[in-house]
Amino acid sequence: MLIAGNWKMFKRPGEAADFCGSLPGELEGVADGVSVVVAPPFTSLQAAVEALRARPVAVYAQNVHWDREGAYTGEISVDMLQTLGVAGAIVGHSERRQYFGETDETAARRAQTAFEAGLGVIACVGETLEEREAGETEAVLRRQVEAIAVAVPEPDTALAVAYEPVWAIGTGRTATPEIAQEAHAFIRSLYAVDQILYGGSVKPENAEELLAQAHVDGALVGGASLDVHSFVAICRTAARLSRS
Ligand code: PEP
Repeated sequence: MLIAGNWKMFKRPGEAADFCGSLPGELEGVADGVSVVVAPPFTSLQAAVEALRARPVAVYAQNVHWDREGAYTGEISVDMLQTLGVAGAIVGHSERRQYFGETDETAARRAQTAFEAGLGVIACVGETLEEREAGETEAVLRRQVEAIAVAVPEPDTALAVAYEPVWAIGTGRTATPEIAQEAHAFIRSLYAVDQILYGGSVKPENAEELLAQAHVDGALVGGASLDVHSFVAICRTAARLSRS
């Protein structure tokens, strides 16, 4: 199981250092069966890496560019992340797709470059409310997942897909366990990826029912990952389920 916290545009370096400084102690006793990732904003990556050095928690970026260097104002390369000691990156998050023109193609290119360079990748997919209501969920997931599958045809454990229905992100509205299970099974039928995470308003109160689904291999957590206690509570639920 993999539990990843996406901090979005929250936490300055000092706050990241405080969070990451207390995280390993708070995670004491969480089984080996759970991998834990935090994804701070770019300016807090270094503080997080330093606080978690030699600790079993990986630091991911929230995005990464597909070229190794170049005239790409506002972008960050794989090499820049690796120089800091960052272990992976989220790509294709719906907020990137919604507000910054991310496409299936650019998300896939980011995933490919990061994967080939040895970074971990969490590649996000998911339908909007309009798409779900129009009965287009499977068509949208097929399009998004196939773009990643073409770019990374032989994924290993370094690449995870996150199913994040856009209507469930930051809205407090969570997919039912059945919706998550059905979407994850569909994604798995398209792509031989090891881990499929669910994302969308995961909280300590609903983590168990979601993580208990057979095709749900972890969670990408936004809001609830900003508080160390709620994030750790989700990690503990994952640990308990992966032991049972
Ligand atoms: C996310 O942004 O990846 C996410 C799942 O956010 P939240 O948990 O706040 O819905």
